[in-house]
Amino acid sequence: MFKINENYQKLPGSYLFSTIAKKVAAFTQANPDKDIIRLGIGDVTQPLAPAVIEAMHKAVDEMGSAETFHGYAPDLGYEFLRNAIVEHDYTSRGCDIAPDEIFVSDGAKSDSANIQEIFGADNKIAVCDPVYPVYVDSNVMSGRTGVYNAETETWSDVIYMPCTMENGFVPEFPKETPDMIYLCLPNNPTGTTITKAKLQEWVDYANRVGAVIIYDGAYEAYISEEDVAHSIYECEGAKTCAIELKSFSKNAGFTGVRLGYTVVPKELKCQDVSLHGMWARRHGTKFNGAPYIVQRAGEATYSKEGRAQLQEQVAYYMKNAAVIKTGLKDAGYTVFGGVNAPYIWLKTPDNMTSWEFFDYLLERANVVGTPGSGFGPSGEGYFRLTAFGSSENTLAAIERVKKL
Ligand code: PLP
Repeated sequence: MFKINENYQKLPGSYLFSTIAKKVAAFTQANPDKDIIRLGIGDVTQPLAPAVIEAMHKAVDEMGSAETFHGYAPDLGYEFLRNAIVEHDYTSRGCDIAPDEIFVSDGAKSDSANIQEIFGADNKIAVCDPVYPVYVDSNVMSGRTGVYNAETETWSDVIYMPCTMENGFVPEFPKETPDMIYLCLPNNPTGTTITKAKLQEWVDYANRVGAVIIYDGAYEAYISEEDVAHSIYECEGAKTCAIELKSFSKNAGFTGVRLGYTVVPKELKCQDVSLHGMWARRHGTKFNGAPYIVQRAGEATYSKEGRAQLQEQVAYYMKNAAVIKTGLKDAGYTVFGGVNAPYIWLKTPDNMTSWEFFDYLLERANVVGTPGSGFGPSGEGYFRLTAFGSSENTLAAIERVKKL
């Protein structure tokens, strides 16, 4: 008889957003006349930028002719895209990253889940709490997290770094030394971030204790403050301790297009084994490349027109963030985030649990958000709203919340 990967059986409940979808579906069925505004899942709503559409149309035409047709993409991704990434995301910020250290992928979710595969099963992971659920769940699937305690909602072999109001949502070095440290900055779900100086401390710490940092920069485009790093490689010594994950989903609205990349510097080694070589092997064996049309679309995000259009798109969402933040503050809520990230993280009122506040908001204002507890035990008592709605819906949602 075949055997299953028993680790999957350890996963508690369903993915957070499936639970939310079920609750919303039940509410809609019972109240078909209610107009629900969704500020829950972090999905974009604005159309692709004209420069991106133009590049995609052109690439589609190329695919229609034998002379310009493209089949499988090169393992690491097309050079035209990797060169553009290096020039605009790294060289322009003083980071010395080479095009062959970039691995183009179909997005940061898969990369953030897959990257753990090149590390030993007995590595101890450290995660911020609350956290983007994929980091922990992917490690559960590979048997790295120990036993689940349903009461505390924690895993015995995971080091949690609480990020709460009390520490300004800045993770502190854990008492126990981790082998792998997941950092997502600016952060999903709290919408907060740390200064470049603080990030440098993490890089120094990782180099000192021999840990690797998996740095998720999916929300980098939303950084507005000067003293915040756009890449971990802006920090000295990061190339010997950090892997960076990037996504086109939030900076360019590619959630339905699918494109991302991972940077594995050649200097990153475990004793004399190159992680770059290992990831190249993994990528080449298990991934057959992001589509040519999509990589051309990605290239267009770096053109002069593309960059200007995307800056406008980011500004559009950040205006929503300001509307949510100011509106909630006016209504007496304690709110965080929304300055360097498209997420607003609020303290639930009257000691409501995160799920109680979810139900309250859904039933009384017909607004959908995300319960903070879904991101980890320290998220209990908090709630996330996203700035990715249309401006009309965002304004309407906040007016409803203000009237509660
Ligand atoms: N990383 C973080 C922190 C995210 O919040 C998300 C999406 O919400 C992703 C990665 C996934 O990005 P992608 O759409 O590129 O898979």
